Amino acid sequence: MTETVDAPATTRIPHWIAGRRVDGESGRGGPVFNPATGRQTGAVDFATVEEVDAAVRAARAAFPAWRATSLAKRAELFFRIRELLHARRDEVAEILVREHGKVFSDALGEVTRGLEVVEHCCGIPSLVKGEHSEQVSTGIDVYSIRQPLGVVAGITPFNFPAMVPMWMWAPAIATGNCFVLKPSEKDPSASLWVAELLREAGVPDGVFNVVMGDRVAVDALLEHPGVAAVSFVGSTPIARYVYEKATASGKRCQALGGAKNHMIVLPDADVDAAADAAVSAGYGSAGERCMAVSVVVAVGDVGDKLVGAIRDRIPKVRVGDGMDPSSEMGPLVTREHRDKVASYVENAPAEGATIVVDGREGVPAGGFFLNPSLLDGVTPGMKAYADEIFGPVLGVTRVATYEEAVRLVNESPYGNGVAIFTRDGGAARQFQFDVQAGMVGINVPIPVPVAYYSFGGWKSSLFGDLHVYGPEAIDFYTRGKVVTSRWPDPATSQIDLGFPQTR
Ligand code: NAD
Repeated sequence: MTETVDAPATTRIPHWIAGRRVDGESGRGGPVFNPATGRQTGAVDFATVEEVDAAVRAARAAFPAWRATSLAKRAELFFRIRELLHARRDEVAEILVREHGKVFSDALGEVTRGLEVVEHCCGIPSLVKGEHSEQVSTGIDVYSIRQPLGVVAGITPFNFPAMVPMWMWAPAIATGNCFVLKPSEKDPSASLWVAELLREAGVPDGVFNVVMGDRVAVDALLEHPGVAAVSFVGSTPIARYVYEKATASGKRCQALGGAKNHMIVLPDADVDAAADAAVSAGYGSAGERCMAVSVVVAVGDVGDKLVGAIRDRIPKVRVGDGMDPSSEMGPLVTREHRDKVASYVENAPAEGATIVVDGREGVPAGGFFLNPSLLDGVTPGMKAYADEIFGPVLGVTRVATYEEAVRLVNESPYGNGVAIFTRDGGAARQFQFDVQAGMVGINVPIPVPVAYYSFGGWKSSLFGDLHVYGPEAIDFYTRGKVVTSRWPDPATSQIDLGFPQTR
């Protein structure tokens, strides 16, 4: 990344510490682009170890009062956050379009799915209830409570600059923790916008902080003794690194990684519905979703019909600037990423695959655009099959049987999302039983769970035990305590050196 803090005519994007914007002093930073024009629009500061420490100290200072704030007041605050976010969702959606490139309707969809997590947290009083057993022994009661961890950190990817941070900060602060966010340096402005909105809603200074930056900031958070837990979402190699480093320094960690999501189409499926789903889930957000469909597995004789139906739909996908209401697919996030994605199409014939539609042709001028591509005859062993391309490139793999299709999915190192398209309920039920992935869609191509379930993959798509948001987030951001209590009648008190037994 170029080191350009002072590029002219760009907006400076600073940190947010203890309730205010704080300019970074490292002299290091990175450019932020509008991917639709290719022009630099911002310059984001990169934090030093000392700046990360200042954010953690602000969070620690806010923690005693925040954890003592009643559940009623926290719930009330979350209702206010929800109302403000809902009323002003267009503002943040526009920021997402201008820095990430996704189209406005998709950006609104991202904010709405994040809002669901905030809405779930409005019910925080019922989410942290413990258990109580009366009279476990004569005059003795036992009950469990859940308490916040302290300061927790979130490190997030470029592809959902509003929603993925919401997966983390909402349950983290609802459960009484203070939070330090390190967003992606590629599209960081949404995080500052959220920080200002949370202050307006009444979140006390220091409860929510943002440090901008790169590996220096990430390492500083992972090594900081004042950080109790780390949530990470990003690519698999960095997820593994973050998990190993965080846990080695005694922190609780959940690190969600990359994906290679298969969509299996059985011979009895409705081909038009399956093709609609493949195009929507393969090219939506230009394929830059961890739940994007990347491989369509055509079983039996469905392959020719399916490839034809997908090919026929591709020319109708309108690619353009995300702020143009007629656009359905925007550009990729950076020039480097666009070029890398295009290289998979370029190399496909040498690998033995066929280019059915070449998305490198006829792309809109300026910006980091690529049109949808379709590859046929993609097989395991090819890079186009093995790598998470993270772009608008859909590969079709043909297999003879259901068993072969399931084997492909189960042999993949990833296990994030998977979908099956069929009219056969028995086959779908068998599939949910057989398949090794955390999120399964039955005739649903992007099975992102609603906010009151939890989100997470298996295998190299998640390091750690607990998934994000929903009930597992409440467990992740709290720790349990069990209290054994007796209020004896002083008249019956006596010394007893034996091990406590139920009586
Ligand atoms: P990334 O791994 O490059 O970056 C994620 C975060 O890690 C960013 O904040 C970045 O600044 C930081 N980072 C990058 N390199 C680092 C390093 N060497 N050391 C320490 N920190 C580093 O991911 P990305 O390109 O921003 O996002 C795309 C990836 O995220 C894809 O692989 C996608 O599948 C994955 N993703 C997964 C999920 C999920 O739920 N499993 C959701 C969204 C995105």
